[in-house]
Parts: sequence; structure tokens; C-alpha cells
Amino acid sequence: MDGNEDRVDAIWQIGVFDAHCHPTDILASIKDIANMKAKVLAVMSTRLQDQDLVREAAGRYLLKDSRPDFLEDDSRYVIPAFGWHPWFSHQLYNDLDKDVEPDQVQHYEMVLTPKPADIGFMQALPRPRSLRQFLQETEERLKEFPYALVGEVGLDRSFRLPEGPSSMTGDMKGKTGGSEEEYTPGSREGRPLSPYRVNIDHQKAILKAQFGLAAKLRRPVSVHSVQAHGLVFEVMEALWKGHERPSKAQRKKAREAAKAHHPDDDEKSQQVAEQSKASPFPPRLCMHSYSGPPDALKRFLAPSVPADIYFSFSMAINFSNASTAKVTSVIKAVPDDRILVESDLHCAGERMDKLLEEIVLKVCEVKEWPVEDGVRRLKENWMRFIFG
Ligand SMILES: [Zn+2]
Repeated sequence: MDGNEDRVDAIWQIGVFDAHCHPTDILASIKDIANMKAKVLAVMSTRLQDQDLVREAAGRYLLKDSRPDFLEDDSRYVIPAFGWHPWFSHQLYNDLDKDVEPDQVQHYEMVLTPKPADIGFMQALPRPRSLRQFLQETEERLKEFPYALVGEVGLDRSFRLPEGPSSMTGDMKGKTGGSEEEYTPGSREGRPLSPYRVNIDHQKAILKAQFGLAAKLRRPVSVHSVQAHGLVFEVMEALWKGHERPSKAQRKKAREAAKAHHPDDDEKSQQVAEQSKASPFPPRLCMHSYSGPPDALKRFLAPSVPADIYFSFSMAINFSNASTAKVTSVIKAVPDDRILVESDLHCAGERMDKLLEEIVLKVCEVKEWPVEDGVRRLKENWMRFIFG
């Protein structure tokens, strides 16, 4: 056995944990998770069609322990994530302030940009659904799995809606070349793109509502952001306004003031009081397949930010269409305890394992971590991101 094979074996023995993937897009691949080398997959939902599929996958690969150590067992697990992706955000109408179902065409005229001149295009889109109802259903799903995440949610300034209706039969075959499996309906399905986008205010409203749900249930969130890192940050920042982490100097001052008033109060009781306050922002977020520049990390990692923000990287996104030099400098700049890996793949099985192996090795190489040490760090980061 050569050195490389040894390294690769060590990766799987320590365990690889996918922070973001979509195997329910090829539903037939769910059975292959049992034979994968990766230990646990965090499986995202994105739209109407995959919420229950993700729920079922989580039931099939159920985690029984609330905080397992994954050391002594051979099973494979699915951590479900429930959420509504920005690419489908137009399919929800915002009824949080006023409880009326809008007319379909009027709704799409309001949320799409530019405003479509073609009524037929809007009539062919799915009937818009209530955001309020989606949040209620999502809350139930999240409560069913105490370790479930909120995701995939986010903002995207670059995507455009596909033309024509989704094939409800889901019989798009062989899109990836070689796979004969059926795609779950509702995604782009190889359709050509229209000129229409979802306006950013609507996307923000859908994102903010889902952040609110994650805050309420104290769940981590997997966040999609394309050309929108600053905007995502602003949505988060608005939620934690007034809850920023105090600086060292501010903490010292507060301690002294508290001591002067109540000499018995120690720092610990103050911390407990702080933690028991319900917070209006999610405790942990992962910017998945993070594509921003190293400079943009600074805002997310500022000492005043009260949520723990992680960044995950994939071969599929980060090393396929971005410049390698840029990704490398970002990976270098992400703190060692905030980096995660993901496949972001739509199909479970060997290819997913391969992509995970590649990104693990890549991160270790860029970070100059010995592989075993790096795999352990990545596992610890993933555990902290998921379970707190
Ligand atoms: Zn994704």
C-alpha cells in the first residue's frame, strides 16, 4: 500500500461529515447512503417537492442519540435540514403581516423583476403558497428531529427562473451523463432560463422569516449566498441588533459595575442570565460553498458578531468555477475552527464520497494540516456546528 492510500484510509477511519448535500434530488440514490464511506450527511431541502423526501431520508438513517460520538458504530446517518431555497422564493407569498392569499398573476408581478409582460409565463408557474403555513409545517418537521437544521435558505442575485413548467413527472434522465436515475421534480431540469429574477426584498423577507424560526428553535442554519454576502450579513445583523458581543473592555466595565452593585454576583451567574435570554438570531450559521473574497470574512468574524459563523467548501462549486487562487486564499483566511467541507451533490454514492475525499485533502493541503490531524479538526468543527 502506498502512502497516498494510507492517507485516504485514515480519512475514512476518522470519519468524514458532509455539511451540505442534496441526495433527495436523485431519490433512488438514498439507498446507497448505507454503503457510503462518509459517516453522516447533512441533507438539505429546498422546495415543496423535497421537504418530505428529506424527512423520510432522515427517518431511514435515523440518529437515536442526541449527541453521538460516532466512534464505535458502522451505521450511516442523515441530518435533515428543512428550508426554502432562494431559487424558489417566488413560490411563497408573504402573509406574515396580512393574511390574504394574493391573485397568482399579481403576486408574480410583485416579486419578479423585470415585471413579466407575458401573463402566460406567470400563469404557468406553480400556485403561490403561504409563507406562514410553510413556517408552521417546517417548525413541526424541525421538532420531529431535535438535531435538524434550517436549510437551505439564503439570497441569490444571479439566478434566473427557468422557462416553462417543471416536468411534474420528473423524468429528466441522464443530466449528469451516465446516471439513468430520475430527478425529483421542481428543479431547473435543464430548462432554458428566462430573464426573470426574484426581487431581493422578497428574497430577504423569506430568508428573515426562516432565520426567525431557526432562532426560535435554536437551530443552526445552512446558508446559500451568491453575489449577496453583504446582503445576507445585513439580514443577520438586523436580527442581532442590540445583542452584539461586548468587547473585552466593555465586559470588564460591566463586571466592575455589577460587583459594585451586587458584590456576590460572579461572572458565571451573569453569563447564565445572558444565555437564558431568548435570542432573535440563529446560534450558528454555515455559509455553504462560500464564494466571497477573504476580505468579506472580516464582517462575519468580527468579535461583536454574537452567532458562530462557519464556512464550508466543496469541490463542486469552489474548485470548479472559481479561480483556485481565490479559493485558496479564502480557505487560508477562515479560522481553523470555523471551516467545514461538503459535497453539495444531488446524488448519494461513490461520487459523493470521492468529492468529499478530494475536498478534505484540498483543505488539509491549503491549511498545511497533516491529514489525520485535519480530518479530526473537520470532524470537531462539524460536530460543533450541528450540535452546538
Ligand atoms: Zn445546496
